[in-house]
Amino acid sequence: MNMSSRFFPFALASVLMVCLNAFAQDYPSSHKTITFVLPYAAGGPTDKAARDLAQSMSKAMGGQSIVIDNAAGASGSIGTNKVAKASADGYTLLFTHIAQATLVSFFRNLPYNVEKDFEYLGLVSENPMNLIGRPSLQANTMAELVTWAQANKGKINIANAGPGSASHLCGMLFQSTLKVDMTSVPYKGTAPAMTDLIGGQVDLMCDQTTTTIAQIEGKKVKSFAVTTPSRLTSPVLKDMPTMQEAGLKDFTVTIWQGLYAPKGTPAVVLKKINEALKTAVKDPEFIRKQEAGGASVINDARNDPAGHKAFVMSEVVKWAPIIKAAGVYAD
Ligand code: ASP
Repeated sequence: MNMSSRFFPFALASVLMVCLNAFAQDYPSSHKTITFVLPYAAGGPTDKAARDLAQSMSKAMGGQSIVIDNAAGASGSIGTNKVAKASADGYTLLFTHIAQATLVSFFRNLPYNVEKDFEYLGLVSENPMNLIGRPSLQANTMAELVTWAQANKGKINIANAGPGSASHLCGMLFQSTLKVDMTSVPYKGTAPAMTDLIGGQVDLMCDQTTTTIAQIEGKKVKSFAVTTPSRLTSPVLKDMPTMQEAGLKDFTVTIWQGLYAPKGTPAVVLKKINEALKTAVKDPEFIRKQEAGGASVINDARNDPAGHKAFVMSEVVKWAPIIKAAGVYAD
């Protein structure tokens, strides 16, 4: 090998580094669109939160175009895997919820590694859940629902967004606390499940308050309880008992949501996205929209990559034994 052929790979690597740095410094380019991959159907609570965040982050990035790609299916693992395998250039990001910590225990063969395949960008909001039922259900209160469930063992359907989704976790907890087994009906997200619940094709569902409130207000579904330790302040749900008040001891569920990039995204790009995320969570418009849905905006160490990752890893550990004990798996 002569001098010039030995020198060539180093020269090429340096040119590449210079190009990558220039590209990273230039981020976000006004000629490119940032895509938030959303692993559930359009119109559901995760979709709603992603769209609210996209709007506020776009503002924080000087009008940068941000679009949503609803890559739904397989409990959210399809969209999540799409981002794990995407170019690490900051233009394809994942917006997802608690499933980032729970799918790993539900799936025997998850096609990505939650710890190693993502850059953590920050959590943005926390949502309570709400147990709701079809409008024709012969129960109006939680006490009546418990009596009805016990009298109809083996006949009850409960909708969810697939094993490991928020609605599934909440529904599983409800069944085990009540000691009544129900038939789980999985959808690509709780938006299509909500349509079937309103139509009476399924009996029950647990969903985030950000999308249940409008349906309760419109009298399209019945509401039985919320999953927070204390009652919510939302005008529509303020008289709704908590699961604990309704006698379901230790029943609390809160769903958190955040943003991720593929592993290997340049540090300067990650910093810019994180800065925009932190501006967005202080945007009065973003806060107003979350609070109107009974959710709260996260404003603590979990807005930063290290705090976000540490929290998700602690949630993986928290949910693993609960899911294992339930013995529900997906392939
Ligand atoms: N709420 C859903 C869940 O149960 C997901 C969604 O459609 O946003 O995980």
